[in-house]
Amino acid sequence: MTPEYGKLTWEEVRDADKDRVVILNVSATEDHGPHMPLDTDTVLGMAVANGVAKMAPDEVFVMPPIAYGFNEHHKDFPGVIWIQPETLIAFVTDITASLAHHGFRRILLLNSHGSNHPVLDLAARKTVIANEIICVSASYWNLCADRINEHRMSEIGGIAHAGEFEAAMYMHLQPEFVHIEKSTNQNKHNPSSKFFNLDLAKGGGKAMLMRWWSEASPDGTMGDPTVADPETGAKFLQAAIEETTALVREIRALPILAREDHH
Ligand SMILES: [Zn+2]
Repeated sequence: MTPEYGKLTWEEVRDADKDRVVILNVSATEDHGPHMPLDTDTVLGMAVANGVAKMAPDEVFVMPPIAYGFNEHHKDFPGVIWIQPETLIAFVTDITASLAHHGFRRILLLNSHGSNHPVLDLAARKTVIANEIICVSASYWNLCADRINEHRMSEIGGIAHAGEFEAAMYMHLQPEFVHIEKSTNQNKHNPSSKFFNLDLAKGGGKAMLMRWWSEASPDGTMGDPTVADPETGAKFLQAAIEETTALVREIRALPILAREDHH
């Protein structure tokens, strides 16, 4: 049976192994510097999800992605389509409720856009409460951060938004859409700060201030895409696929537990 959810027939869904992990990628449509397209988060998130499906075709179903996310702070840059977090939570939890209705009991909300992280965390928690199934949320760079650091060329601060990590992977996947010659180093890391750090692979996020993006970056980039190359991008992507596959296998092994009302 194909791991591609959209290609299943209703009879296949009825007969499917409901302990396969259903992967829903949630991304964004937004500026990624002068060098990368609006669909960056969707292209990368689906490359990870489809890579997992190749590694573990009998263990997952990959849903069509949600290509929009929580990013109103980006709207000073033309092209951004933003979704309110309440809308996104409601949309995602309608999808997870639908999956639960059909009998699926293991879902992975695979995030590929930074500001969706807290939104999908809440959506996953609400799914568990409402449907009593397993629903996990994860941002894919967090799953492979150690391995990103093994391969990266950039300094701390170089991997954030449209920086080395995303640029290298997009160059590996669809080089014709990356204009790396237009990119500039926008490493905004402040080494004297103990808590503010936006580097995705070096412990960013301990304390969060998400400014208006046009305050934070002149061209929409955060990080250093100038050192990106497709060979490193292939390594980043492989690491993301392998670590996400490992997470999928852990999710498949999780016990389904029973509530107990202690009133
Ligand atoms: Zn991105």
